[in-house]
Amino acid sequence: MSRILAIANQKGGVGKTTTAVNLAAGLAELGQRVLLADLDPQGNATMGAGIEKRTALPTVYQILLNQVTLRDARMRSEPGHFDVIPANRELAGAEIELVNLEQRDLRLKVALAQVDDDYDFILMDCPPTLNLLTVNAFAAAQAVLIPMQCEYYALEGLTDLIATIKKVKQRLNPGIRIEGLLRVMFDPRSTLAQQVSDQIKAHFGDKVYDTVIPRNVRLAEAPSHGMPVLAYDRLCKGARAYMELAEETLRRSRNEIDANQAREKTDGEA
Ligand code: ADP
Ligand code: MG
Repeated sequence: MSRILAIANQKGGVGKTTTAVNLAAGLAELGQRVLLADLDPQGNATMGAGIEKRTALPTVYQILLNQVTLRDARMRSEPGHFDVIPANRELAGAEIELVNLEQRDLRLKVALAQVDDDYDFILMDCPPTLNLLTVNAFAAAQAVLIPMQCEYYALEGLTDLIATIKKVKQRLNPGIRIEGLLRVMFDPRSTLAQQVSDQIKAHFGDKVYDTVIPRNVRLAEAPSHGMPVLAYDRLCKGARAYMELAEETLRRSRNEIDANQAREKTDGEA
């Protein structure tokens, strides 16, 4: 069974896509079989994985509309060593077309179930809105990873995101949880960043990843070369931070599996 993580934050430019692409590559480097689903019509994760979004057909759009199976739509990120379900601008229309269809919230979950045995991790790069695509991602996910910048308004936007996760939990996916908050684009010299980071820690405790992703220009350059940072400059600070995140993600997911098994065992004995 694969571990399915949605990478979400309804703010734009907070490092969702950078995290999705580089965590996918990091997990692949650790020997994990990874699928990255691009759910943003901007197609940045697709391009960052080295796939040309203009020619990347079919995309997640056709999968959601049942025009193609996920098996037929997936492509390979050669520099990243993981599989990709691409997205492009066409996906912007999906919202409208899905509204009147049956099981509109569960289409991605149903599609991903076909390939569950093929992967250890399925990562979903969400768009910067709490729309039907994001709801599809939350309905399919076991957990949500929230990248955030340590700036003044960082916590404010979280309220809506957490409310949406709660709604999905009640209505569609009782098992969903917040996997963790990831501090990204961190500048250790900024007093404000330190203060906000401490606040996040105080508020969310061990829901906060130990790994911190620093601001690093190599992370911003890599997508223009169509590769994850590990392939672009594997020794830079950003690459090392995302490797550390991959290790922490693997550790957390193993702990989670152990905790579930222990729970099932005690339930069985009771
Ligand atoms: P989102 O997907 O949330 O909109 P992106 O991952 O696309 O955010 O990041 C927004 C911009 O910031 C991009 O230009 C990206 O290259 C850059 N960026 C992301 N993370 C870092 C980082 N740790 N250091 C430097 N630049 C970064
Ligand atoms: Mg993005």
